[in-house]
Amino acid sequence: MLFEDLKGKRVLVTGSTEGIGWAAVQAFAAQGAKVGFNGRSAPRDLAQRLQAFEQAGVDAEFFAADLSRTPDCEHLVQDFVARFGGIDVLINNAGGLVGRKPLADIDDAFFDAVHDLNARSALMTTRFALPHLKAAAQASGQTSAVILVGSVAGYVGGGPGAGLYGAAKAWLHNIQKNWVNFHTVDGIRFNTLSPGTFDTAFHADKDDEAKARISAGIPMKRFGQPQDAAAAFLFFASHQASAYVTGQVLDINGGQFMP
Ligand code: NAP
Repeated sequence: MLFEDLKGKRVLVTGSTEGIGWAAVQAFAAQGAKVGFNGRSAPRDLAQRLQAFEQAGVDAEFFAADLSRTPDCEHLVQDFVARFGGIDVLINNAGGLVGRKPLADIDDAFFDAVHDLNARSALMTTRFALPHLKAAAQASGQTSAVILVGSVAGYVGGGPGAGLYGAAKAWLHNIQKNWVNFHTVDGIRFNTLSPGTFDTAFHADKDDEAKARISAGIPMKRFGQPQDAAAAFLFFASHQASAYVTGQVLDINGGQFMP
């Protein structure tokens, strides 16, 4: 069966109480993986979610951590490892616009906030997870996986006031090349999933008219749905499916942009 090797794998998905991350959490759970999900605070329906997982025989846990902050990245990894005994797959999904500011209004605080959320979070979480991913690969004889979540903005520069966001995503598209060069030896694969425009809280600032205008410019004439990205996470995570795939960026954007 496709992705069979994900059964029992310990998967940490950051920024995953809703949207693309939550769809990924559910997809891994459906494969029998052990899943950690994360947000700055617990979702209101946490008890129901955990109960549903338990009833389905899924080993899942929520971890509160603000990954803009390095100590939280470290604690998240420590807490996940304490709960599940190691990490096989890390998905650095936490990210967002923070806000929109044109060049003339950008100050140090805004620069820091955008880079802390989108770049530092993935960098530091990966850094703290590294020894655990390496140990998991050694113990299993299979590759561990780190998956970054980039963006179409990483190629095209981002929309109005989103230049720093686009640049931070381009930074992610790039930094995995260094990690591939120096950590393939540790048995870890690094890949990036790069969404186009997805229908999540990320676009809460847009009305229906704006959404229709954006959809019209996408060859598939619609926003992506969180489930549209889920199988790609499974693919990159699965040694069985993608053991020889590393350093790649997979664009999931309905044809919106073709690098
Ligand atoms: P979303 O629906 O807005 O969900 C964001 C998730 O991240 C929530 O669970 C949120 O929970 C969590 N989060 C936010 N700040 C966090 C922090 N500092 N530390 C830990 N968790 C945090 O987002 P999405 O649209 O699914 O986006 C997921 C990823 O895809 C992001 O990296 C985004 O940049 C990228 N992306 C999205 C689109 C799109 O069109 N939607 C396009 C390209 C790329 P809390 O609020 O509780 O913290």
